[in-house]
Amino acid sequence: METTPTLPDNPSFNVLNIPTSDQPRLVIVGGGFGGIQLAKSLRGKGFQVVLLDRHNYHTFQPLLYQVATAGLEPDSIAGPLRRMMQSTKDFYFRLANVNRIQTEERILETSLGQLRYDYLVIATGSRTNYFGQEENFGKAFPLKQVPQALDLRSQMLQSFEKAVISSDLNERKELMNFVIVGGGPTGVEVAGALGELKNHVLPSDYPDLDFRQMNIYLVEGNTRILAGMSEKSGEKALRYLKRFSVNTLLERTVTSFDGHQVVLSDSTEIPCQTVVWAAGVRGNVFQGLPEEAIDRGRIKVDSYNKVAGLDRVYALGDVAKMESEDFPQGHPMLAPVAIQQGQLLAKNLKREQKGKTQIPFQYKDKGSMATIGRHRAVVDIGKIRIGGIMGWYIWMFVHLWSIIGFRNKLVVFWNWVWNYFTYDRGTRLIIRPYIPRDNVEKG
Ligand SMILES: Cc1cc2nc3c(=O)[nH]c(=O)nc-3n(C[C@H](O)[C@H](O)[C@H](O)COP(=O)(O)OP(=O)(O)OC[C@H]3O[C@@H](n4cnc5c(N)ncnc54)[C@H](O)[C@@H]3O)c2cc1C
Repeated sequence: METTPTLPDNPSFNVLNIPTSDQPRLVIVGGGFGGIQLAKSLRGKGFQVVLLDRHNYHTFQPLLYQVATAGLEPDSIAGPLRRMMQSTKDFYFRLANVNRIQTEERILETSLGQLRYDYLVIATGSRTNYFGQEENFGKAFPLKQVPQALDLRSQMLQSFEKAVISSDLNERKELMNFVIVGGGPTGVEVAGALGELKNHVLPSDYPDLDFRQMNIYLVEGNTRILAGMSEKSGEKALRYLKRFSVNTLLERTVTSFDGHQVVLSDSTEIPCQTVVWAAGVRGNVFQGLPEEAIDRGRIKVDSYNKVAGLDRVYALGDVAKMESEDFPQGHPMLAPVAIQQGQLLAKNLKREQKGKTQIPFQYKDKGSMATIGRHRAVVDIGKIRIGGIMGWYIWMFVHLWSIIGFRNKLVVFWNWVWNYFTYDRGTRLIIRPYIPRDNVEKG
């Protein structure tokens, strides 16, 4: 086997306490879907693998909205990264934020100090996209990370606690109106979950509140919701939302939110203290990469996930922009893309070491779906469209199957069964009260 030369391990670049190895050091930044898949697929494949993440856990983002709406505990959708790679030889996890790369020297500048790499894989995912209007929407709630979901849960419950004791009609309106920005799967799922809370759960908790006064608005700039799915599924989802009395406002955007009032592009004003920002994401890129490697906030890669113009640097998942005939704007920011790219990159790195030719990435689309409360979901698989209760079963099965770790699968399943039969969301807890602040993600 051809061995890859490694750079001398200067001790000043090793403050992260990673031992030297006779295997080349491959550093993965980001323990999300793509990073974990790559690390697992590289087990015993001739690399020293160092995984860096600013959290010590992996987040199953597709179910974040259930944490935010008191359906699940946060630890059922998150798993410790160290556990996932237990007893893997020459593997090291470090809890560190990567701030910058020095490409010439092959060094990463992290919150713990500098780290040298032989190979680097950037799998840093995405961050909330405010489309340059961060200063207007700092008071809105993004939904990308577990702490953000917990903030939203607290805010929602605190609002009802305040509404119960408020004698000011205007204030009560603000507290019981909820605006969700963005009619993609996340926005639709949040709206559906709030609708279910309104219809089935909250009236028993707050008998002194009139829940006809609770309004849920879903604001979407497009002419339809779920634009990434078929038209039929979009229409079905719209009907499902109506049954939960969600007001879907199409062809309108939110222009400002000051913490008490939302203003829409058609000048509609909605008194409201809780705005959920589900309008989109963009690549999460750290500093130091050459400008020509970045395109619309994502890192340009070829069909082998290699970063344009850099040697032995790769990017995958949400942060990577891989253009192809089928995806001229890059692949969709979805978990299966990240997982499949992680699998193939591991294979290609091994092939490269053996002097074999590389295999180009070909995305296998497994379909898309969204759920709207109990018994209703829309599913597109190829040309097949499924809705209603059948769609809901498929949605549940796919999500249970995809959650990482047997314990988490079991806990989520048990919670769903409990919620289904009792209509009781056991996690309606204000554990960490939300104190209003600027919620825009920093770095
Ligand atoms: C609310 C929500 C719902 C979603 N629902 C679905 C769905 O139903 N189906 C679907 O397929 N996809 C869904 N997605 C998208 C899916 O979660 C992403 O496509 C997927 O997570 C991308 O995987 P990734 O490995 O590229 O990045 P991620 O899974 O986002 O992981 C990135 C990791 O990098 C770490 N990181 C970032 N920057 C740094 C840094 N500078 N230093 C150190 N660590 C860093 C982060 O902490 C994180 O652990 C959803 C996303 C959201 C937000």
